[in-house]
Amino acid sequence: MQKFKISTEVCFGADSLSALKEIKAENAAIFTDAFLAKSGAADKIASYMTGCRNIKVYADIKPDPPVELIADALGFLLDANSDVVVALGGGSSIDAAKSTVLIARKKTGKDIPLIAVPTTSGTGSEVTSFAVITDRQAGVKYPLVSDELLPVKAILAGELVASVPPQITADTGFDVLTHALEAYISTAANDYSDALAEKALELAFEYLPAAYKNGNDAVAREKMHTASCLAGMAFNAVSLGVNHGIAHSFGAHFHIPHGRANGMLLPYVMWYNAGLDGVALEPTVTRLAKIAKLIGLPAFNAKTGAQNLVNKLKNMQRELGIPTSLKAAGVTKEQYAQVKAHIIESALNDACTATNPRKLVGKDIENILSNLDKF
Ligand code: NAD
Repeated sequence: MQKFKISTEVCFGADSLSALKEIKAENAAIFTDAFLAKSGAADKIASYMTGCRNIKVYADIKPDPPVELIADALGFLLDANSDVVVALGGGSSIDAAKSTVLIARKKTGKDIPLIAVPTTSGTGSEVTSFAVITDRQAGVKYPLVSDELLPVKAILAGELVASVPPQITADTGFDVLTHALEAYISTAANDYSDALAEKALELAFEYLPAAYKNGNDAVAREKMHTASCLAGMAFNAVSLGVNHGIAHSFGAHFHIPHGRANGMLLPYVMWYNAGLDGVALEPTVTRLAKIAKLIGLPAFNAKTGAQNLVNKLKNMQRELGIPTSLKAAGVTKEQYAQVKAHIIESALNDACTATNPRKLVGKDIENILSNLDKF
């Protein structure tokens, strides 16, 4: 038996922020980062929380939240005696809030509902049972997995994403493509996750370039926000693959943002998974050809379709400024040599790798990475 569950309520479209008015609490907290606090976004969110008497803002969240930050945030939450938390920001703010709330619930015995308001279109964290916390010293990202991490409500307000600069739009947009493609070819994929992944891919291939070129394109921003959420629902149900397995350690070691690390690897992982290095591998090659057709690329046979999809991803990398080598991402030959074996080992052991459609050994990961190993 398989099960499919989506429990987070998703509010979207015009005036979706007014869903914040439904929150009734004595003490509420907003978890966000310094940029969003300074930009006025946190004040805007607070102005909608008319049913909350006291609102405190924790604005210290940093990208790829480290373990120590969660301890600090927990102290804040307990001091504020918060009854509800609104996470405002990208995956980092949402994941930090998810982890902190989970521990605070255990400590206080209070329910403490979490509402997520994403301000990047990338991680889908607003609808997933995951939170990724980084151990900076060990160069490892730990995914916490529990349905208790799921926000009760996700509020998708495209207008909050308009300020995201082009490079972060590209990084996070490639995260969406990676989530949807890995979910689509996951060994656990099913008709429900396929429907979500296909729609996410259709939207992301069409609207990511437009959102990158013009951040004020409200339609493109809205559609990318939807794509991100749909891709999050898809991978939450069927997990991911080796692209994420490699990116977690690769990104943590070299301080490469999560979406960019995924985007650098994506064409090569899809190429490998389809068996384009030799004998085409079913069903992955046919599934990737199906996506090629869906987005209007020629696919005379499965292998051509999959190859055209890989080429499309490479073209998009160039168009959106995703680095195509370790050197371009600021990594030196010496830094890479020092941690290469660790990256390979971590990728093999990463939980995401378990649902990759092609089984791998260390040499396969080394071969995938060799596409970026140009100094
Ligand atoms: P992020 O949250 O780290 O934010 C990146 C940068 O964008 C920050 O400097 C932030 O201030 C800025 N930013 C955010 N919103 C902005 C806006 N509206 N305007 C201008 N700047 C803005 O980036 P992310 O890619 O959203 O999240 C990455 C994190 O999420 C990583 O730690 C990754 O491992 C994790 N992740 C979690 C899940 C999950 O399911 N929980 C899935 C994928 C990734």
